[in-house]
Amino acid sequence: MKVFYNGELVEKEQVIIDPFSASVLYGVTVFEGIRYYLDHSQKVLVGFRLYEHYTRFLHSIKILNINFSISFDEFINSIEKTILANGYKEDLYVRTSLILDKEGTWHSVDNARLLVSVFPRVSNLDLSRNGVRTSISHWNRISDSQMPPRTKVGSNYLNSRMAYLEAKNKGFDNAILLNKDGYVAEGPGACVFIVRDNVLITPSINQSILESITRDTIIKIAKDLNLQVIERPVDRTELFICDEVFYTGTAAEITPIIQVDSYLIGESVPGPITITLLKEFNRITRGQNSKYQSWLTKVHV
Ligand code: PMP
Repeated sequence: MKVFYNGELVEKEQVIIDPFSASVLYGVTVFEGIRYYLDHSQKVLVGFRLYEHYTRFLHSIKILNINFSISFDEFINSIEKTILANGYKEDLYVRTSLILDKEGTWHSVDNARLLVSVFPRVSNLDLSRNGVRTSISHWNRISDSQMPPRTKVGSNYLNSRMAYLEAKNKGFDNAILLNKDGYVAEGPGACVFIVRDNVLITPSINQSILESITRDTIIKIAKDLNLQVIERPVDRTELFICDEVFYTGTAAEITPIIQVDSYLIGESVPGPITITLLKEFNRITRGQNSKYQSWLTKVHV
């Protein structure tokens, strides 16, 4: 498997990272997870909302005070080179990681290197899926006064890990975390939407969530479908009485939630608004809705 590391394509095994670096010892790694979808022609892979991923990558780097700069063209080129070098012609998950690769400590800011890795990953957008059973975590989501959730940093995922494994150990599929004020924040690796009386509601971006690109996508496409969308604090008990709930994120795409703790959601099957959004999202990511072409970056494969 070829990866792009520090400006060149190399075999994964050739990447040697200092065991005493801030990334290895303290989880100081900024990253983005990006989907590429094979479009309807089967000859083109489309990267989804690359500019937004690039921008969030730079924001995380800035908040963490890491010295690193990269242009949008360099960012795209490094991804495309990695895809082509591996010869992939299928749906992909691309990870761009920033590694601090020299002996250092938790407050190191220099020696940042870009690592791009690419993995085949089929889309979850399958209408036959039943939805997942979730549990509200005893762990609160990290908050902006502690570890900023709007940064996509490896060490933040310790919080996600605790919540996810707690839910799995209790027999659920996944978790929902509340923020320190007791409002719904997000899942361990995805944002959360609820539907009440045909209105989509999702926690605002200052409710201890990652500024999710898929969340923004859902808000835009829902509004274009004439659905009302409200961003506001969401109470825990709204999860129990709402009509539909779903996760949204790059990996999760749109994942219906059919249970929260002991409460069944709606008819305990993916609801109609979730399914409408899922179909529309699928069309957009396969390049079948010309209105959203500006979200897609093409690579001929
Ligand atoms: N929240 C968390 C904690 C995540 O890890 C992710 C996945 N990146 C998301 C939300 C969804 O963000 P995005 O839609 O940008 O992938």
